[in-house]
Amino acid sequence: MIDLEEQAIEILKQAKNIVFMTGAGVSTASGIPDYRSMTGVYHGVDNPEYLLSHTCLKREPDVFYQFVKQLYHPSAKPNVIHKKMAELSQTKQVGIVTQNIDDLHIKAGSPNVVSFHGSLYDCYCQKCGQSVSVSDYMQIMYHKECGGIIRPNVVLYEEGLSESNIETAISWLSQADVVCIVGTTFQVYPFSGLIHYRKPDSQVIVINKEPISLMEPHLLVQQKGENFFSNI
Ligand SMILES: [Zn+2]
Repeated sequence: MIDLEEQAIEILKQAKNIVFMTGAGVSTASGIPDYRSMTGVYHGVDNPEYLLSHTCLKREPDVFYQFVKQLYHPSAKPNVIHKKMAELSQTKQVGIVTQNIDDLHIKAGSPNVVSFHGSLYDCYCQKCGQSVSVSDYMQIMYHKECGGIIRPNVVLYEEGLSESNIETAISWLSQADVVCIVGTTFQVYPFSGLIHYRKPDSQVIVINKEPISLMEPHLLVQQKGENFFSNI
């Protein structure tokens, strides 16, 4: 009898077109904590949804800034998960749709990445629209040129997702023969809703420490992503 891990590896090897859907668990091996575990520590506010909301950015830009700064890990490096996915895209059609805002899939060299919730490393001034470097933003939240407040191009609570990201993700999912969900409990909607656009006869694999809330039939490998991808 073949175990689930071997079965999943075999499916990925045979696949011609894969979509990976990734979450915070993919970045923890690069030393990036899930922000949900960081709240309360910095501001005594037990509510990440507020700290990362449009309202907070507007009403209390300094509170927003102090919190968001903690999410930056500019020296974090792609780990084995990011690298193996990038490697697979050299021989297969691979699309990566990630909830992560750390750019690590891009840094690993994956050519097709949708950062569904935006990127921390793309900053701009809200007043004049100019791009601002991350190092400038890390020093001060005000744009040197015009005094406007800088923000990262991430999708905050209360804000809409990019239409083109949604369209690209749906088109990849509708063509993939394998959908592999890694390092996410799959509770964030609409990200998790994307699964409904998969090709009906595609196979779904889940690599996660815990079982996830997913109605679709799937093969669950209950393991940390870094352990699984080390064996591919
Ligand atoms: Zn400006």
